Amino acid sequence: MTSVSERLLELKKKRNAIILAHNYQLPEVQDVADQVGDSLGLSRLAAKTEAEVILFCGVHFMAETAAILAPDKKVLLPDLNAGCPMANMVTPRQLREWRTAHPGAYVITYVNSSAAVKALSDICCTSANAVAVVQQAPEGRELLFVPDRNLGFYASQKSGRPLSLWNGFCPTHERMLPEMAVAAREKHPGAILLAHPECRPGLLAHADAVASTTGILDYCLQSNAKEFIIASEIGMLHPLRRENPDKVFYPLTEVADCPNMKLNTLEKILWALEDMEPEVTVPPDIARQAFQPIKRMLEL
Ligand code: SF4
Repeated sequence: MTSVSERLLELKKKRNAIILAHNYQLPEVQDVADQVGDSLGLSRLAAKTEAEVILFCGVHFMAETAAILAPDKKVLLPDLNAGCPMANMVTPRQLREWRTAHPGAYVITYVNSSAAVKALSDICCTSANAVAVVQQAPEGRELLFVPDRNLGFYASQKSGRPLSLWNGFCPTHERMLPEMAVAAREKHPGAILLAHPECRPGLLAHADAVASTTGILDYCLQSNAKEFIIASEIGMLHPLRRENPDKVFYPLTEVADCPNMKLNTLEKILWALEDMEPEVTVPPDIARQAFQPIKRMLEL
């Protein structure tokens, strides 16, 4: 009997599709993907691929970004309910009102946001380049940062530039508490503690290094240390262990599990390839406007 993975790989070829999976996806989903990575890296690949269909195993805003950067491709998301609660914490209407209340302000928007919110922004950023984006923001203008207050706080501290922060956050990263870092250090003395900047500032203060998902992967690959405590979504443990079989990784806590990311399953990927849906599209006017702040970030 053919397994689900075998059937979907067969169908992938027939549909001329590429499977892109975020680092937070289920291990078995990462294992059938052509490429595993962070949201922006994957969207860049989506823009370059020769494939006609992009099956994006991640959350809705990521598939939207792929659709904006690859407008001639069909972008499928295995489960349309895979949204990002943080992205939903700021609506276009709220951002429009915030801008109106701060005339002349420059809006920096984390890529974890809807296309419609990006369309109202001056520049986008990722967790990897937020500090650089804030550093190069125009002088003499108020800087508004949406939606992640934790990433914004971190970027402000690192760049020394004051930011007005939207009160959004990632519920999964927010679950990680400073006392968990203290307990993990006691349990694994000598291990390096790496934290994602979506974590609370109180937790980041305990980290040896703060980095994006790709940054954490690079750090562990290059480090001579043998043990690491990872304060990020637990899906990260899979690529870390796969790439570093001689090193040991401990999640800061098992509860840092994003339920939205885990909605994409092998069966849903197979169904998406069979039915060629659910498709994620962005209205052309929004896509055109959202492309500009993404392009400005990519040009940095
Ligand atoms: S881990 Fe957080 S930021 Fe990422 S998709 Fe889940 S809720 Fe959104």
